[in-house]
Amino acid sequence: MPVTTIAGNPVETGHWIGGKRIDSSRRFRSVSPVDQQPLGEFARGGTREADAAVRAASEAFPTWSRTPAETRAELLHRIADEVERRIPELATVETADNGALLRSHVRSVMPRVAHNFRFFADWLTGELSHPEFDTRGHRNAVSWDPSGVCVLITPWNAPLMLESWKVAPALAAGNTVVLKPAEWSPATASVLADITAVAGLPDGVFNVVQGLGPEVGAPLCAHPDVARISFTGSEATARRIAAAAAENLTPLSMELGGKSPLLVFDDADLELAVALAVEQYDNAGQVCLAATRILVHSPVAEEFTARLRTAIGEIKQGDPRKDDTDVGPNIHPDHVARIDGFVRRAVASGARVLEGGGPNTELGGTYYRPTLLDQVRPGAEILREEVFGPVLTLEVFDTEREAVARADDTRFGLAATVVTSDPERARRVSAELTAGTVWVNCFFVRDLRAPFGGARHSGIGREGGTWSFDFFCDVKNTVTGP
Ligand code: NAD
Repeated sequence: MPVTTIAGNPVETGHWIGGKRIDSSRRFRSVSPVDQQPLGEFARGGTREADAAVRAASEAFPTWSRTPAETRAELLHRIADEVERRIPELATVETADNGALLRSHVRSVMPRVAHNFRFFADWLTGELSHPEFDTRGHRNAVSWDPSGVCVLITPWNAPLMLESWKVAPALAAGNTVVLKPAEWSPATASVLADITAVAGLPDGVFNVVQGLGPEVGAPLCAHPDVARISFTGSEATARRIAAAAAENLTPLSMELGGKSPLLVFDDADLELAVALAVEQYDNAGQVCLAATRILVHSPVAEEFTARLRTAIGEIKQGDPRKDDTDVGPNIHPDHVARIDGFVRRAVASGARVLEGGGPNTELGGTYYRPTLLDQVRPGAEILREEVFGPVLTLEVFDTEREAVARADDTRFGLAATVVTSDPERARRVSAELTAGTVWVNCFFVRDLRAPFGGARHSGIGREGGTWSFDFFCDVKNTVTGP
């Protein structure tokens, strides 16, 4: 079976189906966003591989779903142990594959991957007991029963992190899994397959199919034997998946894009506000939650803008493998062209470039300069569409009411950040905003017990804590008479 070497680590390039590596007659090439070097050719699956993976997962389901929760939890802890042991390898492979910072992968992302497995294992055997209550002498017992084969489809911006966020609860609950990672970042999902084998997960419980979305993702989503589809990605793909799932009435969970606001009020700690604004350039702006629309109160607009520009000027852009780099590359030259298209059209319609405004040509074709635009025309495309790059817009507001109205003037509703020192204002504004998560005086604090998801076009449903089990399981109430 073909193996490629990524940053010195051998990585299997085949599918992982029924506990075996399977190749396809066709391949797709993965290229590193760091330096445009080819990373290898991965198996390019289609309907045949999608069918084989769903079959393997269906065959493994009866035994896995009846395996005691404690045993499943123990296996998930072993996966976490192995992830922790292999953090240096996973981190270097992921950075080569998707260009995100190596130090973030080592210090926070990969430990979080392990934590995802531990958290859902422990939740299932601990707090997630079966609640019981009485109705006129009748006993209600609620249980979370395994639902079957779960198809998990994930994007490239935080590959293993987002994969583990779905894989862990699905497996913990007694389901079997077919994972389809993004074709721009296929590598760590393949390593995860090895990790599950080392941990002793039975064959067929966890499967990975590689390939292009329309070729192998589409038949997975249209498969009649699939019990759940959990998708993280773009609105456009979500529509296609929803249409395919409709045929079989397959339940869906969708975590989609965002155009989140960052509201800076005149009573805000401006140092904090600037730090939170700069944080939006993390992962080169390729974060669904990123608050890319900055709305600043007029009395502090001038000072905030000056301080933000200074802070942007201090951002170090460069090789994501270096420890002192703040912002690395974007995922692909096509994606950079898309980002640049948004900026150019914004400028053509009157926006002013305060910082950045184009690719960083000194670094190569995938590095886009951290960009700040103001004087953006109301209703402009750049205020409506998700750019998914290091591009922020700056708008000035005069009243709290205006701030909330503008912040909410979007078809998305993933997150919002409010910076104010007035708790009463924080409460009022948070209550008014339409968003899955509102952060007040902070950003990106994510507890696995909390619900995660988006309002409006940012998603359907919630995952996290009990919400993950509510989605991945058949929730059953058994009522026993006196
Ligand atoms: P994408 O929609 O292009 O691709 C996501 C996945 O869907 C990939 O694995 C792709 O191969 C697959 N796919 C494509 N066509 C398919 C089809 N017809 N059937 C089945 N699968 C198909 O998204 P992307 O560009 O990889 O990711 C960026 C998007 O993801 C952004 O919109 C971002 O906001 C969003 N995102 C959301 C969250 C969240 O939690 N809300 C997190 C990260 C990223």
